[in-house]
Amino acid sequence: MNINTNYLNLNESYLFSTIASKVREHAQANPAAEVIRLGIGDVTRPLTPAVVEAMQQATAEMAAAASFRGYGDEQGYGFLRQAIAEYYATKGVTLHEDEIFVSDGAKSDLANILDIFAQDNTVLIPNPVYPVYVDVNTMAGRNIVYMHGSADNDFLPMPDDTVQADVIYLCSPNNPTGAVYSKAQLRQWVDYALARDAVILFDSAYEAFVQDDSLPTSIYQVDGAERCAIEFCSLSKTAGFTGTRCGYTVVPHALVRGGVALNKLWLRRQTTKFNGVPYVVQRGAQAVFSPQGLAQAKTDIAYYLENARIIADALEQLGVAFTGGRNAPYVWLQCPGGMNSWAFFDALLEQANVVGTPGAGFGANGEGFFRLTAFGSRENTIEAMRRIAACKLMKT
Ligand code: PLP
Repeated sequence: MNINTNYLNLNESYLFSTIASKVREHAQANPAAEVIRLGIGDVTRPLTPAVVEAMQQATAEMAAAASFRGYGDEQGYGFLRQAIAEYYATKGVTLHEDEIFVSDGAKSDLANILDIFAQDNTVLIPNPVYPVYVDVNTMAGRNIVYMHGSADNDFLPMPDDTVQADVIYLCSPNNPTGAVYSKAQLRQWVDYALARDAVILFDSAYEAFVQDDSLPTSIYQVDGAERCAIEFCSLSKTAGFTGTRCGYTVVPHALVRGGVALNKLWLRRQTTKFNGVPYVVQRGAQAVFSPQGLAQAKTDIAYYLENARIIADALEQLGVAFTGGRNAPYVWLQCPGGMNSWAFFDALLEQANVVGTPGAGFGANGEGFFRLTAFGSRENTIEAMRRIAACKLMKT
C-alpha cells in the first residue's frame, strides 16, 4: 500500500488557522478590544424570502408521499437547468439544458473536473488567486506553471506565447484582487487556447458583482469560447448559498478534444461519482433566478458593493493603491510603507483591531498586499475604515 505522496507536496494551509490563532491571542491580551473581521470571504446576509419560500414549499412536498422525490438526475433537475439557461440568455449566451451541470458548489467542480484530463497536462494558474486551483493540481501531481499578476498588469495576467499550457484557470472577478478581465482581454485568452487546443477553466463565482455593463460576466460572451472553455459558477456569493450549497458548471457540446466531446466525459464522470444536489436546495436555487429572486439577490449584492465602495473610498483618501472594490466584493491593497503582508496584518490588528487577509496566502505574488472583504455589516465596515484611517500605521 502506497499513499498518494503528492499530498506531501502541498503547502500546509496555515492561512486561516494562523489568522484565527493570532486573533484569539490578541483578544486574550486585549479583552476590551472589539475586533472587526473583514478577512474571511463568507457572506453574512441571510437567504432571501424568495429562496426560503421555495425551499419551505419543497420541504412540504418531500413530506407527502404523492410529491416525495428520491434520487434525481445527477446533473440536476430540468427546472433548474432551464432557469440557468434563461439566465444565460439574458447575457446574450445561448446554452442547451444538457450543457449545464448542477453541483454542490464551484469548489468541488473546479477540483473534480481534473478527472477528465490526462495526468501529463501542464496547468497554467494565475498568481495570486483562490488557492484551491494550486492545491487540487498538486494533489494530482500535475505540472503547474504560474502566470504573474502584479500592479503593473492590474493583476490581470495575459497570455504569453512562449508558455505552453494545456489547462488554464482564469478567475474573473478575481479572488483576492477583485480585478475583472475585459472582453478584449478574454478574446486574447480564447485565441491563445484555441491556437493550442488548450482548455480554459473559467471561474465566474463572483460574476453577479460585475456592475460595469462593458465587462463580461461569462466567458461565452466571447465568440469561440464554446470551443475552448468550461465555466464554473456558484450561488454562494450571488445568493448567500455558502452554507446551502449549489453551483453549476457549463460544458458546451462544441468543446471537443482528442475527437471526444468533453460534455460526454463530464456527464459520465458526474453520473458515476456524484448523486446530485438535494431537491429542496435545487428548488431554492431555481427561485434565485425568478424575477423576485433576482431582484432580492441584487439588493444584497448592492449592500455588499456599497461596503466595497466605502472601503475603496477610504483607501483612496489615504492614498493607498488598490484594485477591486467596484465590480467585486474584494479590495486588494498595497501594504503601506513596503510592509510585508503578515507584518501589516499584525500591525492592523494591534493598532485598529481590524482583521484582513494577508496577500501572501494567495500565492507568492500576493506578498506585500492585503485583502479586505465587503461581506461584513455596514456598521462594521464603516467603523473598520474609520479605525484604519486613524491608525498611525497608514501614515508611514
Ligand atoms: N471560486 C472562487 C474564486 C471562490 O472564491 C470560491 C469561494 O470562496 C469558490 C470558487 C467556491 O465556491 P463554492 O462555495 O460554490 O464552492
